[in-house]
Order: sequence, then C-alpha cells, then structure tokens
Amino acid sequence: MGKATGFMEYSRKKPEERDPKTRLSDWSEYSSFFSDEVLSEQGARCMDCGTPFCHTGMIIQGAASGCPINNLIPEWNDLVYRGRWKEALERLQKTNNFPEFTGRVCPAPCEGSCTVSISNPAVSIKGIERSIIDKGFENGWVTPRIPKNRTGKKVAVIGSGPSGLASADQLNQAGHSVTVYERADRPGGLLMYGIPNIKLDKGVVERRIKLMQQEGIDFITNTEVGVDITAEEIKQQYDAVVLCIGARKARDLKFEGREAKGIHFAMDYLTKATKSLLDSNFKDGNFIDTEGKDVIVIGGGDTGADCVATATRQNARSVALFQILSKQPETRPENNMWPAYPNVHTVSYAHEEAAAKYGKDPREYLIQTKKVVTDENGSAKELHTIQVEETKDETGRLMFKEIPGTEKVWPAQCIFIAVGFEGVEQPMLTQFGVETVNQKIDAEYGKHTTNVEGVFAAGDARRGQSLIVWAINEGREAAREVDKYLTKCLVK
Ligand SMILES: Cc1cc2nc3c(=O)[nH]c(=O)nc-3n(C[C@H](O)[C@H](O)[C@H](O)COP(=O)(O)OP(=O)(O)OC[C@H]3O[C@@H](n4cnc5c(N)ncnc54)[C@H](O)[C@@H]3O)c2cc1C
Ligand code: SF4
Repeated sequence: MGKATGFMEYSRKKPEERDPKTRLSDWSEYSSFFSDEVLSEQGARCMDCGTPFCHTGMIIQGAASGCPINNLIPEWNDLVYRGRWKEALERLQKTNNFPEFTGRVCPAPCEGSCTVSISNPAVSIKGIERSIIDKGFENGWVTPRIPKNRTGKKVAVIGSGPSGLASADQLNQAGHSVTVYERADRPGGLLMYGIPNIKLDKGVVERRIKLMQQEGIDFITNTEVGVDITAEEIKQQYDAVVLCIGARKARDLKFEGREAKGIHFAMDYLTKATKSLLDSNFKDGNFIDTEGKDVIVIGGGDTGADCVATATRQNARSVALFQILSKQPETRPENNMWPAYPNVHTVSYAHEEAAAKYGKDPREYLIQTKKVVTDENGSAKELHTIQVEETKDETGRLMFKEIPGTEKVWPAQCIFIAVGFEGVEQPMLTQFGVETVNQKIDAEYGKHTTNVEGVFAAGDARRGQSLIVWAINEGREAAREVDKYLTKCLVK
C-alpha cells in the first residue's frame, strides 16, 4: 500500500474546477486535473483496506456499489502515490477501455463504497483515474495496439456509444475484423451527442475513435441499420452482430398544452447544441436558442442538469429545474448505509453554474406540471404547477398527492422534457427478428445472446438507460461471449 498514515494526514481534494462565473462564457470542460504533488497525496489516502469494496461492482439496494468494471483501484492508487505513472496506466487499462470518459463523467459508485468514507470523505478515485489516463496521452504512452494476427471472422457492431466502442475494442484486440455502424454523423453515441462538451470535451472522444481506427476498426457513420442497410444484409456479411443501439425512446409527459411550440425533448436540445458547436461554433444557427427566455426543465437527472448548463450558457433569462421527488438528505439515512451507493443531496456543475448566474439553485422539489398556456401563436407562455406530497399506496408504492392551494404560474417560453427514456427503438429489431421484454432487448446479462443465432446485445439497449461504466462493462462482457461463439466456429 501507499503511505500507511496517508488517510490521517491528508484531506480529500477534487480536481480543480474553473470558477462557475468565468466558465459560463465558454463551452470548454469545467474541470481540469490535479498537480502531481496533490495527486501523490490523494493516492496516499487509500488505506489498502484489505477488503476493497471500491472495486466490487456489487448491486446493493438496486444500485452499483463499487466499480462496475472492477477497476484495480487500490493498486493504481499506490502506484500514483509512488509516482509510477506508466505502471498505473497499465493497471488501469487492464479493466477500463476508456478511463478518459469515466474519469470525467462517471458518478463514481467506487467512492460511495470506499472504506475511508465510513468516517472521512472518500479517496478521490475518479479524479485519480482521469489524471492517470490524461498523463498517459500527454506523454505518448497510449499508442495504437494493432493486433498481430487476424482470425478472418467479421463482426458488425451496431451503435457507437460506450457499449459499442468497448465491444469493438475488445473484439478487435481478439483479432476479429470489426465494423461499427452509426446513424449519426459522428461516432460516440451519448458521449458525443448527449453529454455536453462542458462535461466531456468532444476532442477527447474523437481522440479515442482515431486510435481505434488506427488499430483497424472501421467506423461507418451516417448509416442507420434497418434503413440504409437491412438487417438481412448485415447478417449475410458478418459472422456475428452486437446490437449496442442505446435506449433512446424518450419518455413523454401528458399535460394540457403539451403540443405548444417551445416544448422539446431534452435530447433534441442537447444534440443540436453540441452538433452546432462542433460544426460551426453556433454560427449555423441550427440549435434551439434560449437566449432571453424563461426556461423550465422538467426532470432532475443528469439529462436535466445538462439542459440547465446549456441554457445558462445561452443566457436564458431564467432557468428552473422541476423534479417531482423530494430533496435528498444531506447525509446518509439509516436505511442507506455504507457500502451502498449514497442517496444524498449533491450539487452538480450545472446547479452550481445556475446558482452563480441567477443567484439560487435552480431546483424545485415535489412539484408537478399541470398545464402550459400559450400565446396567440401557440407558443408556450406560462407553465402552471402544483406542489405534491409523497405518500404510499396499500402496496407500498410511492405516490404523489396534490396539495390544494399550492398552485403557481411560472413564465416559460422554453420547456425541456427530461424525464427519462422508455427503452429501445423497435423498427430495426423487428427486421432482425430480435425479441424485446419491457422495451429492452431480451438477452441475459453475462451471456448477451438474443433469440437470433449470432446476434448479441449490450449496453442501454439491453439493461435500460444506465451509466457509461455499465455500458463499458456490458460491451466487454458481450465481446467475450462473441469471441467464444466465433472461436468455437473456428474449431469446427
Ligand atoms: C444527456 C445525458 C447525459 C448523461 N450523462 C451521463 C454521465 O454524466 N455519466 C454517465 O455515466 N452516464 C451518463 N448518461 C448515460 C450514458 O450516456 C448512457 O448510459 C450510455 O451512453 C449508454 O451507452 P450505449 O452504448 O448503450 O448507448 P448510446 O450511448 O445511447 O449509443 C447508442 C448509439 O447507437 C446508435 N444507433 C441506434 N440505432 C441505430 C441504428 N439502427 N443504426 C446505427 N446506429 C444506431 C445511436 O445513434 C447511438 O449513437 C447520460 C445520458 C444522457 C441522455
Ligand atoms: S469507472 Fe467509475 S466506478 Fe469505476 S473507478 Fe472510475 S469513477 Fe469509479
């Protein structure tokens, strides 16, 4: 282990973040990295506790506790403390294909189960992870690993989000010839279009794609499987297929005035903003502009927060974020003890920025949309709400009861719906003949086989909207199963 007394001597530090007011004038990443000296101290805080829950990835209370890809955290913490960066990088790359993504935007379930966090703030695992890989790229240690031998087997990966990329990477390294199909104009899935540049610089995504191309992976963009090429053609041309198409069917809300102009799904807003930024630095005008408008985002998750950050940067007149759930407690309640993922109140980069610009945290809790009132052109003008209280029905299911007399009218010309995703988009799956269950591809976790021979599934399309780290986990797992399937074919 690192320094035996490190966790007593040093306090937790997060990677430096640019001042919220300053960073609002640009679209660059809001966080940067640690100095080497601080990193060594942060690595030294790891206790090497003997039973490191941080890398277990167990599901406790329905959420991941510990790292879902089983990163060897205590090992690289120790190496960072000793300044042995190249070895830390080697150790990190054994389990994580893309630490530059998770090191920036993972919610870090590893930190919630860190043993230090029982009595002190957790080790800064995520920040250390990011620093190791960023240093690797900076020093030229991350170079193309071109497979020496090819098996002659061909695999199509449909979708280039983190699950598709992880699957493609693993299968390519195993010697199979991999082609990734992507319907968008740029590969990366939600890493590219979804998560804003402020959180994850698109140059970081492009750098990885370029490396994968140099390693021999083909990317075919602007090509929707099921439309531009049929499922039958794919099946004929490839020995195996991995479906990594995400779970992009947006969940809608029903309320009076839903059809008003100015109401958009969050993903349309976020995708257009990033595309316009990358294509023309917003000069093309192909984005939803909230400048000078009152913006309301409905839905309190990552997607909602990303809408807040985007509208705040666009100089919206006001930004509010509505969520129906109550505010989380400041500290762990008794039924949510370590090492479970801590369900506590957090302040994200977006909340912090909105507070800096508008003088208050944008979140409103226990609030429900009743109707949207329009002007004479059918454009949204006002949003009417009512406060609710949480109750339980006779089966213990959480319900929300309206509180009479708490009605409120909010000015709103732009409203973004960010209440999650229902599941996979069906048309292409019907062509493949792949079965679904609860709007997810029906494939067992760990096996990833669908009802169609040679067709596998991974990521959000199989498990429902989740996290990048789970998408990487699933991409890796599915690749292992595909490799087993293909190499068995070779033996025949
Ligand atoms: C706005 C937003 C912010 C998020 N922020 C975070 C975060 O901060 N941290 C985190 O861990 N997770 C975050 N998530 C969740 C995370 O991004 C997803 O869980 C993850 O990207 C899922 O990866 P995936 O590969 O399964 O699917 P996706 O990333 O959705 O990729 C699927 C790809 O398949 C393509 N595709 C679909 N159908 C076809 C077809 N027929 N032909 C060709 N291509 C097709 C799509 O265009 C897409 O590029 C966020 C999600 C959203 C929506
Ligand atoms: S991938 Fe996420 S859970 Fe795993 S070590 Fe990194 S930050 Fe922690």
